[in-house]
Amino acid sequence: MTTNLRQLFLEHVGQTSDNPMMLEVERAEGIYLYGRDGKRWIDLISGVSVSAVGHGNRQVIDAICSQAQDYLHLMVYGEAVESPQVRYAQRIASLLPDPLDTVYFVNSGSEAVEGALKLAKRYTGRTEIIYYKNAYHGSTHGSLSVMGGEEYRNAYRPLLPDTRQIRFNEPADLRYVTPRTACVIIEPVQGEGGIFPADRDYLQALRDRCDQTGTLLIYDEIQTGLGRTGTLYFFQQYGIVPDILCTAKAFGGGMPLGAFIASNRIMSVLKTNPVLGHITTFGGHPVCCAAGLAALEYILSERLTELADAKGALYESLLAGHPLVREIRRTGLLLGVEFGDSELTARIVLRAIDRGLMTEWFLFHDTAMRIAPPLTITDAEIRESCEILLEVLNGAAE
Ligand code: PMP
Repeated sequence: MTTNLRQLFLEHVGQTSDNPMMLEVERAEGIYLYGRDGKRWIDLISGVSVSAVGHGNRQVIDAICSQAQDYLHLMVYGEAVESPQVRYAQRIASLLPDPLDTVYFVNSGSEAVEGALKLAKRYTGRTEIIYYKNAYHGSTHGSLSVMGGEEYRNAYRPLLPDTRQIRFNEPADLRYVTPRTACVIIEPVQGEGGIFPADRDYLQALRDRCDQTGTLLIYDEIQTGLGRTGTLYFFQQYGIVPDILCTAKAFGGGMPLGAFIASNRIMSVLKTNPVLGHITTFGGHPVCCAAGLAALEYILSERLTELADAKGALYESLLAGHPLVREIRRTGLLLGVEFGDSELTARIVLRAIDRGLMTEWFLFHDTAMRIAPPLTITDAEIRESCEILLEVLNGAAE
């Protein structure tokens, strides 16, 4: 049966890797993924920052079932007043600083980025887009055009014209932001780049430069959003507010949902002539909005945001000091454990998976390992996962 399923997977399911892991997970609960024959993994990546409230979260499942009983899809985006959308938009806006009060729902992170870039072009009437080295914003043509990894972009040229790459945390490059620039898109914490937070002074200088030049500032908090960094969104730690915020992943509580969020004034250009701001059939699906809202309420009521930093610090204290660990970069419960060597990192990651820890390296930084478990992880579970990881590290050192 197993072999058959894996064979059919390879024969009929389109692949993006020539060497997929092919894990057969039958069930997931809390921080655990359960496979066949009693195999179990501690999920240290949360499906890349998606499963913030843990697998099989009761509140989220109840919200999904309840909304599914009422209705699934009704009409194309914006034609029906759907209460899950309205309630989620109102709730998230109430937790964000002014003027981020208007939420445009989409299906994914890439689509949130597409929408944000289009909005910036419409609002400013400009075309130039500035992005960063080692940035990851998605896999559609627009988001690929602002990807900071050349080898992935090159295969799909020509991409969007009038884009320029600058260096992360490098104030000298801010001179490239000019009155020609429609927007700058930045991950306030680079995720696939290997967990590098922007410096506060840098982000402030970027904000100032955008204000001086009439350029919109877009934050991509798709990987960092919904509590993982210790605040609902990372930028709230600095209080430096963007013009457009992109969110997805944990935002859907495990269902496909994303959004770009801006002021009502900026967002309203999407409904001026010519219309067709951003059409999406399924964006803001009522079941996904119900799930996302339930996840958000769970995060707030369990104070998972406030607890994320202490949990991340516990990981840091248990792993720092191991001779193979060169550095730990961390914001909240999002860690990049640096080994400084890609072969060593690959060996550690594969052995960790074999020993029951689900982890991986980063797309643009293959010398570090990712730790981003569900925010619901307990201190005991953190210790358990570190014991296994330290054994793996000891084995890899030999
Ligand atoms: N932006 C960031 C920062 C991401 O980490 C990702 C996904 N890894 C995306 C955008 C794209 O999101 P999606 O895969 O949902 O399109």
